[in-house]
Parts: sequence; structure tokens; C-alpha cells
Amino acid sequence: MPELPEVESIRKQLENYVVGHTIEDVEINYKKCFTGDPEKVKGGKIKKIRRFGKALSIDLDNNYSLFIHIKMTGQLIYRGPNLKNPPDISDKVKGGLNGKHNHVTFILDNHSSHPSSLKLRRTGKAREGQGAALYYIDYRKFGWIKIVTSDKIQETSFVNKLGPEPFKDLTLDKFSTVVQSTGMAIKNVLMDQSKIAGVGNIYANDALFLADIHPEKRSNKLNDAEVKKLFESIEKVLMKGLKYGGASEVSFVRPDGTTGNYQSHTLVYGKEGEKCPNGCGGEIKKIKVGGRGTYFCSECQKK
Ligand SMILES: [Zn+2]
Repeated sequence: MPELPEVESIRKQLENYVVGHTIEDVEINYKKCFTGDPEKVKGGKIKKIRRFGKALSIDLDNNYSLFIHIKMTGQLIYRGPNLKNPPDISDKVKGGLNGKHNHVTFILDNHSSHPSSLKLRRTGKAREGQGAALYYIDYRKFGWIKIVTSDKIQETSFVNKLGPEPFKDLTLDKFSTVVQSTGMAIKNVLMDQSKIAGVGNIYANDALFLADIHPEKRSNKLNDAEVKKLFESIEKVLMKGLKYGGASEVSFVRPDGTTGNYQSHTLVYGKEGEKCPNGCGGEIKKIKVGGRGTYFCSECQKK
């Protein structure tokens, strides 16, 4: 599932591409993923893109927002004048734009928010006379889009349940309190969005490796030095994920239609049977923790 670096990579591109556009129309092909009256966002000009853990909000100038969670396989793809020379759409976009997994299309006005806009080159089957659109594609259909009042997003049960987030409000003190509060396996603590927001399976695996901590170690058995090292390791792997534009393991693509690259730079994630990158001579093992594939070096990461 896309984690903080993936969703942040989407947020950054959306900020470049859709801010300044006005939503002219909303075409909904799959009603179950969409909650709210689409009329409320028509005519709204996009002001800002915010991220809440793994969710995004597209804020309009009429005090409504599109609150979006892409879950496992959701994709937001932009085509329009703010993306000059658009790259080819990744084949991870099943069916392509306007294909059978394209559940919602936001038709945008065709005015560039960038003064030096070049002539639009369309990719996919953009509509005649319509040059700009934001496509929502999701073949597993777990993602959702909700229309909410912008200043009420903080009060939604989704945001209320989120724990503190790295780089935002997750300080070392708060992290230490969270870790000491439970005897769960530390990896499950890292992935629990109500305890810490934004971290999922890929980055939890790599952060624990970087901190030399066994994924099944009881959270409240970590000593102060381990807590500090893990806190720093989480920030390091998330930064690296951001640097590579996220990990495109399953379906993650950015709004320009391209994949991220972190999957080629993981430390242990997905590397069962390979030599430990620390050079300890050990081999990366794979086990299940909380039902999820978990990779670690049994030499470097002791319980
Ligand atoms: Zn090792």
C-alpha cells in the first residue's frame, strides 16, 4: 500500500499540476467509490493540496474539498497544460486513461496556471474540446473519494484516528511514549496508523533493519538507545523514499503517469535470500509478522 513517501510524491505533483485549475465537471463511472454531491465541487478552483497520513485533500476556493484515499491500487493521473511533454503512462495504469478502471474523471478548465504553458499534447483518449483532466483509476476498488467541508477535515473520524506523523508532530518524545505503551511486535506498532501515521510495510522493514532491531521484538522492550536509533531510521528511510519519488511495487504511479524508484533501493524489503547489505555475512530472511511479509537479517537484528 502506498505510504507517506508515495502519497507525498502524489501531493507534490498535484500541487504543480492541478492548483489553479477549476473543476468544470465530474464524471463518475463507479458510484461506490464516491461519497457526496459532485455539484458542490463544480466551479470550484483548486487552491491547495494537503496530506493526512496516507490520505490527500484537494481544497477548493468554495470551502469544499475532495478527500481521497487511494488505498492499495488507486491512481490519480493528470493530463493538461501544466504538464508539458507528458511522459508515457506506466503500464501499471491498468486499462489506461478512460479505461474500465477509470472510476472518476474531474474535467478541468483548460487554462494553464503557469504563464509559459506550451501547446497541450494529449496522451490517452482525452475528450474533444477538453484539454485538462484528473483521472481516478483503481482496479482493486478499495480507494475512496469524499466531498467534505475543507475546515472540517481535521474533525473527520479518519483524521482523528491518525497518530502523530514523522516530520510533522512525531517528536522523539512522542515516539518513545508510543513505543513504550504496548507489548506488540515493534513492526506492527510502526504500521499501526493510529499509533504512527504514514509508515507501512516497505519502510517499516527498512527502518528496523537500519536500526538493527528484530521486527518481532516487543515494543516496550526497546531501550532508549534503540528507540532513538529507530526514530532516526524511520526518518532516514522515508527521506530516501521521497528522494526516489516513492516505491512502485504494485500500482503506485505519480500524477504524471510514471513510477517511483525506491523499489530498486530498498535495504531488505523484497530481498529474501540475498546477502545482508551490512556485510555481516548473514542472509536476508522472510517471515510473516501481523500477516505481512517481513524481511530482516537474523545476524544484525536480534530479538
Ligand atoms: Zn546482517
